[in-house]
Amino acid sequence: MPRHVAVIGAGAIGPDIGYYLKSALPELKLTIIDISQAAIDAALSRFADYTRKALAKGKMNQQQAAAVMLQVQGSTDYDAIKACDWVIEAATENLTLKRRIFAEVEARVAVDAVITSNTSSLPAERIFAELRHKARATVTHFFAPAWRNPAVEVIEYSAAAPELVAWLRWVFCNTGKLPLVTKDVPCFMLDRIFDNWCNEAAMLLDQASAAEIDSVASELVHAGPFFVLNLARGNPIITETNTLQADEEGEHYRPALIFRSVDQWLTVAPGKRVEVPAAKAAAVRDRLLGILLSQAVDILDRTIGTPADLDLGCCTALGFKAGPVALLRDMPNTEAQRILERLALERPGMPMPQRELSAYLRFERHVLVDDLDGVKVITLRRPEALNALHDEMTDEILALIRRYEDDPAVTGFVITGYGTKAFCAGADIGRFPSMLDNRDAAAQYSRDCSRLLVHLDAMQKPVVAALNGMALGGGFELAMRCHALVATEQSWMQLPEVSLGILPGIGAMVVPYRRWPLAASTFHAMLRRCEKLKARQALSLGVVDALAKDSSELIALAVARVQALAHGHGRIADAPVALPAFEPMAAKSASGMALSPTTLALLERAVQQAAQAPTLAAALEIGYLAFGDSACTAAAREGITAFGERRAPDFAAVG
Ligand code: NAD
Repeated sequence: MPRHVAVIGAGAIGPDIGYYLKSALPELKLTIIDISQAAIDAALSRFADYTRKALAKGKMNQQQAAAVMLQVQGSTDYDAIKACDWVIEAATENLTLKRRIFAEVEARVAVDAVITSNTSSLPAERIFAELRHKARATVTHFFAPAWRNPAVEVIEYSAAAPELVAWLRWVFCNTGKLPLVTKDVPCFMLDRIFDNWCNEAAMLLDQASAAEIDSVASELVHAGPFFVLNLARGNPIITETNTLQADEEGEHYRPALIFRSVDQWLTVAPGKRVEVPAAKAAAVRDRLLGILLSQAVDILDRTIGTPADLDLGCCTALGFKAGPVALLRDMPNTEAQRILERLALERPGMPMPQRELSAYLRFERHVLVDDLDGVKVITLRRPEALNALHDEMTDEILALIRRYEDDPAVTGFVITGYGTKAFCAGADIGRFPSMLDNRDAAAQYSRDCSRLLVHLDAMQKPVVAALNGMALGGGFELAMRCHALVATEQSWMQLPEVSLGILPGIGAMVVPYRRWPLAASTFHAMLRRCEKLKARQALSLGVVDALAKDSSELIALAVARVQALAHGHGRIADAPVALPAFEPMAAKSASGMALSPTTLALLERAVQQAAQAPTLAAALEIGYLAFGDSACTAAAREGITAFGERRAPDFAAVG
């Protein structure tokens, strides 16, 4: 982790980058440099303001807030950066200026200090052309508001050491960011979408008003292009960035002239819309969708970024409701073709697909795969949902395992979660509400959701769960079917289903008792009272095999565990198992929440019956059926409804 970072440029985004770093790494020393003392003063008071708000909202305690404000200094003197191990430049978007700044920086910092630029459009090859030691430099492109927006593009600059990109990814990932690695082209990946989306909106002003265009755009984004341009004072930026794209890649990117003469657009706020006549709305929608599809296929054909990153980045950084590749997937092929053909006619020169449209859709959307010494590390990546499982993700994991399990070069697998908070926060509520009151459908749903877990039970090659944070409900049910578990010291497990009025139907009422019979009373408390199981306690019970200090140590530990199990791993016992009795208790969770006695009775019956079942398969079936039963209770309806309405369920009323 960096120890002393300098941010150069205390304008709109520089201080926000600094604040993100200080809140993630409170021990860090931060130096903010600007040529304007007024900008520095404003940056420091912004820090104080953010910290006050975080305190007031309970997002930080007094001690954390004090640490964030400590070791932050501002200066107009570049000598203050001499001891920095990372310099992030976020000064005015101007090539000559940035080069001059890098010369100032390089004259002062150590040769191994990392230098990155927050430019939104200028390729690294150009801004670092005059740097003497290029291997330590690249672009790290943040998105506003940088203290909160998780996306950050990390550019694969050809002169940068590959270890630098890997290090940056690692630092960002471990400080709560979402690094997206992209090629070194003008505007990188996401601004190609954003700039051209805004430019196209301006080009449409001969057909519709800004308010009408934003209203149509609201089908696709949370805030329309003109609203965002007003907010970000973005008109000059689009002029700048689209001129760069036009000069490099063709006249079709030339920015609309109107950007030069308008300061603020007359438009509607997010959530509001004006009526747009149907034909006009269709024309605007076609063009906006057309530009999204055109930019997406261009990004993918030129491998500027991966399709998973593109969609995730569009949703996370730019506020799209679905990424362009997901839009392409979800519309009929003929409709996508029609939209692209219309764009080609109206906006000649715009990129068109170089392959069959279906070829853009073959990729893993929700998991990352790395190879470490012959071990496939599968990382669940749904940061917007704390890596919660759903059908698509389950299928991707299963397909990956099937692809590699017969490969002699692969020893086994690690499954871990993306980011610092969660291994997996459970299973998405997903289709479940439609199964309320339908016993057979709900039981079948849990059978279907178990397809990956049943496959794990039968595997020869080892799969190790590496818990990097919370493992809740279905997430813990996945981990307990892996052949070994390792965890960071901060990780914890919980089975909160009864607090939703349902049961953990894909193994938790069965597997722990057959696998760790000595920990049975702990699992009773987890199932009946939603008690948390912390990593250290899980280690003492033998549920977890080893603990790691942090996430980098965790993966090494998990890989070593796979290798140790290469010649065989234990199986979940098939035979019935004896259970300790359920002690009488009030229908309350460990946190004091009232639970449904009906749900608890179903749970206890299923656990007892499953323990006596002659085989594991028969025991699991009892779990699926019990889940089906729970779906037909008033408690499940209340629990799921309350969850959707973000309120506490009232089980007292339903029993
Ligand atoms: P800004 O104009 O608000 O701030 C730039 C700051 O740089 C000013 O305070 C200025 O005094 C300072 N500066 C100018 N010359 C300097 C020098 N020689 N040494 C030190 N400081 C100097 O710009 P901004 O919006 O904060 O953008 C900064 C950079 O980040 C740009 O490259 C921009 O493209 C990029 N970026 C901005 C955003 C955003 O949302 N604002 C998003 C992504 C990337």
